[in-house]
Amino acid sequence: MLIAMALNVALAFQDPVPIDAMVVRKAVAEAAAIWAPYGFALDRTDVCGRSAAETLLLTIGIAGTATPGRPPIVLGTIVFAPDGTPQPRITLFLDEVLRFVAGARVLGAEEWQWPRLLREQIMGRILGRVLAHEIGHYVLVDRRHTPAGLMRSIQRSDELAAPSRAGFTLSADQAAQLRARSVAVSGLESTRERADTCGRP
Ligand SMILES: [Zn+2]
Repeated sequence: MLIAMALNVALAFQDPVPIDAMVVRKAVAEAAAIWAPYGFALDRTDVCGRSAAETLLLTIGIAGTATPGRPPIVLGTIVFAPDGTPQPRITLFLDEVLRFVAGARVLGAEEWQWPRLLREQIMGRILGRVLAHEIGHYVLVDRRHTPAGLMRSIQRSDELAAPSRAGFTLSADQAAQLRARSVAVSGLESTRERADTCGRP
């Protein structure tokens, strides 16, 4: 018997989010669309909100740049503990993503030629795909990269900006590894700690 079960992943963006709300919505929707085929239901949540017990909570921080002026360009990161356990906190590097957006060509047009809605759409798409990649490190409990697909380490700006999600899938091995790991992922959830400081008036 096959039991279909969606694993909920709640994404708590740290305040204040230095991006337009529409871009954040599109980024979460893009990451959700990439993870839906693997039984993950992604949604945004409040850092201090309560989430259901069966929900993985990941906090999302947004910073400027990881290593100013030095290659490689890091678009996002997740930290692993020395024992190989990923920490439930992802950082996205906005300045680098903006530089990537500027380098992308859409239907042959440069960024300055794009209408505002298209720019928001592309910005959200790129951020969402970077986010989906970092979520991959977390749920696969693996810091390694693959030569192709969602978990490759080098992403091209044109591909990150393109409407097609064909290049953002897991390999068959990774998908199988994930199914086998669903128990471990539940275990991760039960040991999570919230490091955020939340105040109530
Ligand atoms: Zn990576």
